[in-house]
Amino acid sequence: MATKMVCPNGCNAYFSTIAHIAQDWIVDAFGNFVGSANDSTVVTHNPHFGNLWTCMKCGAEGQPKDIPGDGSDNPTEIIAG
Ligand SMILES: [Zn+2]
Repeated sequence: MATKMVCPNGCNAYFSTIAHIAQDWIVDAFGNFVGSANDSTVVTHNPHFGNLWTCMKCGAEGQPKDIPGDGSDNPTEIIAG
C-alpha cells in the first residue's frame, strides 16, 4: 500500500508544498544571519502528506489517498477470475 496526493477536482497536476532544506549561512558572533555562504542546499525533510499540498492547476488542497502497489504510475492490475 502506498499513498498518493490527489486533487479533489481531478486535475492530475503538480502540487506545491513545503520541503525542509539546510543551507550554509554566514553569521555574526551571535548567530544572526548575514548572508548565505553559497547557493547549495541540502534536503533535510522531503515533503510529507501531513502538510498542505496545493494543486498547481486549480489551487485546491490535495487529499492523500491510499492506493495499492508501490506508488508507481503502473498500479497492479486486478485480474478477475
Ligand atoms: Zn486541481
